[in-house]
Order: sequence, then structure tokens, then C-alpha cells
Amino acid sequence: MRSMLRLWALTGVLAACTGCGSGDPEAIHRSTLTLDTHVDIDPEYATPAQDPLNADIQVNLEKMTAGGLDAAFFIVYVGQTERTPVNYARAQADALAKFDAIHRKTESLYPDRIGLAYRADDIGHLIEESKLAAAIGIENGYVIGTGLGLLDSYYELGARYMTLVHNGHNDIADSASPREGLGDAPVEHDGVSEFGAAVIRRMNELGIMVDISHGSKQTALDAIELSAAPVIASHSGVRALGDHVRNLDDETLLALRDNGGVVQIVAFDLYLNVRPPEYFEARNALRDSLGLEGFVEPTRLDEPTRTEYLAGIAELDARWAPADVSSLVDHIDYAVELIGIDHVGISSDFGGGGGIVGWSDAADTANVTAELVSRGYDAEAIEKIWSGNLLRVWREVEAVAERL
Ligand SMILES: [Zn+2]
Repeated sequence: MRSMLRLWALTGVLAACTGCGSGDPEAIHRSTLTLDTHVDIDPEYATPAQDPLNADIQVNLEKMTAGGLDAAFFIVYVGQTERTPVNYARAQADALAKFDAIHRKTESLYPDRIGLAYRADDIGHLIEESKLAAAIGIENGYVIGTGLGLLDSYYELGARYMTLVHNGHNDIADSASPREGLGDAPVEHDGVSEFGAAVIRRMNELGIMVDISHGSKQTALDAIELSAAPVIASHSGVRALGDHVRNLDDETLLALRDNGGVVQIVAFDLYLNVRPPEYFEARNALRDSLGLEGFVEPTRLDEPTRTEYLAGIAELDARWAPADVSSLVDHIDYAVELIGIDHVGISSDFGGGGGIVGWSDAADTANVTAELVSRGYDAEAIEKIWSGNLLRVWREVEAVAERL
């Protein structure tokens, strides 16, 4: 029955879903194909140290099943470092290790529960087989080094989108977050470089979606201009509601719409609900008091430190409210209002700092659908937001690749 409902949803015949017409959130959630475009994985993912089935991480197979999260892009992320030959080689090795981990999960560990999608239509086929679906996105084009050859290898391994840049400029494009520590000037290429233009061309030829998240505004506008196919923002918010460099302003969102692309609004607390400087001062003081540095992932702390850290964060949250599912849907509403229902989707950034009150891991996914229903979105609109728009873009990217 469940898979039949899915099949109807996939073919757009939502009338066949009992309860969808009357706006029953549970029925709509069950009948909707849900796809999260950004789930980060740890270096030890799919090793004995971290079982993708039930490890204490925000997205595991049990939580996906429990929360009705059908599909996710798992991310081959490598952080920016100084651009030296040694570091390029290391970035490539780190990327390959993450590809291997995702393949181990879908091919040797749990092939009966989750499969890897190489084409947009594979997602629906896997769901019809009562499996979960995984796809692969690369975060930071740095991992291709200084030539185009590795793009082909990564495509073969399943990469179907690539975020051009991360925190810190690379050879492809300027970042929204230059890193002085790496010697970054505020602007290096003024958007996408000449090499970056060649990278985008090759991505179009192969059928890899171009991802503008993390890029500077000029990078985003250049990428939209240069790409022969629609582009995505795999995990970003809306600048008008949160003045953060990782959020897209109206001009960029409108350009994305005109290009046929999609913005996947991200459940990232500090982008959805931007805090005043005092908040960050207090948070840094908390980190210093516990001897912690940089990005803190609570699940990776030892027990006493974790307890103390979380208690400190709870105090901060009492003063400055964290983002919740309602904040996420505020950003979705704004984007839908500005660029239309066909250009907006959802991502979590789980494993990479994502997670908000009400959607703190994959098991909570139905809460997002319930909030969309309460805002008046019908089953058809929710299907578009949860997966339809992204899959349409993916199919268009495949079609452009075939034509080129
Ligand atoms: Zn990111």
C-alpha cells in the first residue's frame, strides 16, 4: 500500500491519496517523496566506528525510515586548505574516502535498505522497491584540483552535484566567506574564474548539477549565467529574512528562477535566525571555557564536556531564540512568494551544523510537512517542495548533458 501511495504521488495523481485532499498532514507526508539535498558524513562513516544503520548521528537508516525521509544527497565534503600540490592530493584522497563510504553503505552494508541513485528517475524506482535512496553531492570544487579530469572520475562514482566553492576562495570561484587565514583577499576572481567557467562547461556536459551555495553573490550570478542547464543552491536561506552571507538576496533568487533552478532552503539555525554580536561573544566565551575551538559537533564531545556544552547552549537559547520549523517555513514562504512554487525545496545540512527545533534529525521530518500543511500548502505543492522541483532540475541537467 505504502509503495502504491508513493507511486501515485510520483505520477502526480495525489487525488488517489486518502486524506491528502482534506489536508491530513500524516497522509500527505506518507504519500510525498521527501528528498533532503544536503547531509554531511563523518570521515569514519560506514566503518565499524559509525554504522549508517543506527549510529548516534542525525541521519541514519533507522531515523530516515522512522521519519519518512525517503532520499538524501550524502555529501563528499572537503574543507578548503592552502592550494599546494600536497593539499590537492590530500583533498582528492579525502574525497575518494567519502565516496567509498557511501558506496560501502549502499553496496555492501545495506543494499537491501538503501540504493544509490545515478539518475533522477532512480530515486523513484528505489522508493518503489521499498528502499531508501541515496545520491551524492560534492561540497567544494577544490577536490578536482587544477584540471578537469577528476570531474569525470567523480561523475563515474556518482557525483550529481558539486558546490563550486566552500569557506575560502578556490581556483574555481570566490567564496561568500573568504578566509584571511588562507591568505584570501575579499575578492579574488570577482565571481567565477576562467578555469571555473571550463569546470561549469564540463559539469554541464557530464550532467552534474552546478551548486551555487557558499559562493559569493557574483559567483552565483556568474554560475547562473555560464551554466547551460538550471543550477541549484543545495543549502541556503533567504537574505531578506536573515542578513547572513550564506543566504541569497532577491536579485540572486530571481536570477535562479529565470534560469529554471531551485533553492533548497536549509534548516541551519544561524542562517534562518541571525543573532546579534552579543550572542557570538557569549558562545565563544562558552567554547573557551571548555577548551573547544571552531565548529562544535556535540555528538563528538566526551560525555562531561557534552553535558556542560549543551547546558551552556540552552542558556544562550533562552536569551536568543533558536530557529525552529516555523522559521524554516518562513524562509520557504518568502522564496515561494518571490520566485514561485516551482523553484523552492528543502535541505537539512544534518551532520554539518544543520538542525533546528522541531527538525533536529531525520526522525523529525514529518514536522516539516505538518508546518507546510498548516501554512496552507496542498499535497501537490508539498510534493514539489520536498522533491519534485529538485528532480525536475536534475532531469533537465541530464537532458542538457545528452544534448551537449
Ligand atoms: Zn555547507
